[in-house]
Amino acid sequence: MNDAPILRRGLGLLGGTFDPVHAGHLALASAVLTAIPLIRVEFFPAGDPWQKHGISPGLHRLNMLRIAVEYEPRFRVSTAELCRSGPTYTIDTVRSLRQEVGPAMPLVLILGFDQWRNLTTWRSWQTLTDYVHIAWCSRAGAEPAPIDPVQTAWAEPRTAAPCDLIHSPCGRIACFDMPPHRASATAVRRIMSAYPFSAAMKRLDGWLPIGVAQYIRMHRLYGSRQ
Ligand code: ATP
Repeated sequence: MNDAPILRRGLGLLGGTFDPVHAGHLALASAVLTAIPLIRVEFFPAGDPWQKHGISPGLHRLNMLRIAVEYEPRFRVSTAELCRSGPTYTIDTVRSLRQEVGPAMPLVLILGFDQWRNLTTWRSWQTLTDYVHIAWCSRAGAEPAPIDPVQTAWAEPRTAAPCDLIHSPCGRIACFDMPPHRASATAVRRIMSAYPFSAAMKRLDGWLPIGVAQYIRMHRLYGSRQ
C-alpha cells in the first residue's frame, strides 16, 4: 500500500456569522480538507454582516468558535473581519489577506450552496477570483434554485477539479461534495429559546460541540434557560 504523505498547500477561508458555530460548519470545513489538500481552514467570523441583523456580539461568536476548534489542529479562527469597522465585505477580506500572504499561496474561499447561490448580491463578486479560488458545496435543505445565468457564464471557464486548486494561487472555481448535515444556526437559536437547556440539547442531537453548549448556557445566549 502507498502511504506517501499528502502534499498540502494553501489555506481555506470559511466566513460566516457563526451565531453560534455548529456541527454543520465543522463538517463543512472537514469536507473541504478531504476534497482539497489544504494546510488548514481559517474561520472568519463576520464583524457586521451586512445581510444579517440582530446577531450576537462578536466576542461571544469568537469565543464559541475558539472553543469549537480547540482540538482541531487544521482549523483556526481569524479575527480579521471582527477587527474591521463598518460592514463586512468578503472582497475586503480576501484583498488584504492576499497582500498578507503574497502572490503565490493558494487561497480558497469556501462557500455553502446558499452563499454560492447568493453570490451575485455580494460586493465586487466578479473580482473575488482575482485574489482567491472559490470552492462551493451543496447544503441539505437548500432549494435547488437555478443560479443567475451571468454567474454561470462567469464560473464556467474558471471551473476546475477541487484537488487542482492547490496548484495555483487564485482564479478557479470548484464544486465539492459533502454528506448532508442538517444543522443550522437559526434552528439552534430557535430551539435554545424555546426549551429549557437539557430539553434543547436533546432536540439538537449533537449539533453543538459540548463546550459551545456550555458557553451558551453560561452566558444565557439566545434566551437559553436552566
Ligand atoms: P443562519 O442559520 O444564522 O443563517 P448558518 O447556520 O447558515 O446561519 P453561517 O454562519 O451563516 O451559518 O454559515 C457559514 C457558512 O457555513 C456558509 O457557507 C453556510 O452555507 C455554511 N453552512 C452552515 N450550515 C451548514 C450545514 N449544515 N452544512 C453545510 N454548510 C453549512
